[in-house]
Amino acid sequence: MTDRLYYTDARLDRFTAVVVESTDDGRRVVLDRTAFYPTSGGQPHDLGTLGSIGVVDVLDEEERIVHCLAEPIGVPVGSMLVGQIDMARRFDHMQQHTGQHLLSAVLTDEFGWPTVSVHFGDETNTVDVACDAFDPTRLAAIERRVNALIVQNRRVTVSFEDAAVATGLRKPSDRAGELRIVTIDGADRSACGGTHVDATGEIGVLLLRRAEKTKGNTRLEFVCGHRAVSRARLDAELLTAAARTLSAAPHDLPGLVEQQQQRLTEGERERKRLIGELARYQAAALWTASTPDSDGVRRIRLSASGAIKEAEPLAQQLAALGGCAVVVSNADLGGVMMATAEDTGIDAGQRLRTALQAVGGRGGGSPRLAQGAVPDPSRLPLVLDALGFRTSLPEQSV
Ligand SMILES: [Zn+2]
Repeated sequence: MTDRLYYTDARLDRFTAVVVESTDDGRRVVLDRTAFYPTSGGQPHDLGTLGSIGVVDVLDEEERIVHCLAEPIGVPVGSMLVGQIDMARRFDHMQQHTGQHLLSAVLTDEFGWPTVSVHFGDETNTVDVACDAFDPTRLAAIERRVNALIVQNRRVTVSFEDAAVATGLRKPSDRAGELRIVTIDGADRSACGGTHVDATGEIGVLLLRRAEKTKGNTRLEFVCGHRAVSRARLDAELLTAAARTLSAAPHDLPGLVEQQQQRLTEGERERKRLIGELARYQAAALWTASTPDSDGVRRIRLSASGAIKEAEPLAQQLAALGGCAVVVSNADLGGVMMATAEDTGIDAGQRLRTALQAVGGRGGGSPRLAQGAVPDPSRLPLVLDALGFRTSLPEQSV
């Protein structure tokens, strides 16, 4: 059974221990005691070194703690090793974890929302609380209350008590026997195996970033200590950069962005209207300039430099004028579109599909509007021929 040194001393960063088991060619090592915290209770594992080898993962296997190493350690069972904890990482976890206890205490006692689950991540942490209708304007009040408790620098102590007699726990423990209890003076008592700071002042600060709904609960995102400061720093830089592009002050951003969004929507609506209007004028000019073939149908050839889809409003306006068939093609991309007026009796979808299939292309559509493409643009003249559009027809660029 591994003796967990971090249970009684969260600040122990260097220790000696004896190898009691070594497996996986010496990549997995069990010691008689360890200061390495294994992933458990939501708190991520420590990093550091064992001997001179990096510890990349630490597993909690109930009775024992397994150290996973970056490479084989190559020492026999019974050897003495020096372990070194990456304390910057550990202290960060101590700040996040103690901050969470305080946050959960405030959320339960003062707002009536017990914590359902906790997650500590590399960048940010979350608590899910039993609250189905969270009002986001309360974030500031919760944050202020937790930070007041942080400033009061309340003592954080660890005790070992019998589950049968331990009282005042935030959440009753389902374990029997001895419990490890973390007490924040006058604020919280929780059964927990994690590592914590000695007084709430060491949490530094807690930043509540946002709230979101999750399956009948509310998920609150928070960060503590140095992480809160660097996160706030990053947020400020992002806001400053966004404000600079709009030549505005950061606090004017929400109103300004909304305003711009509205203008963009209006502009887009106007652009579409103008495209339609332009197509109407272009169609009238093209139709008038064309002459009907012997069957009475005006055949108009258009070439598009971009996507043929862009020429759709024009093709439709032409067809609406009656007595004409329009083909739009892109010689570089091999795209082709056909639109026909109803009074021509020409089924655009059927004609185009047949013409394209003959050259290994694909396409189709309705009797009035169809589009497709040839795999090899050099075969486009064959398609135009099949559609009854002589390649000698004058071609208008659109
Ligand atoms: Zn805890």
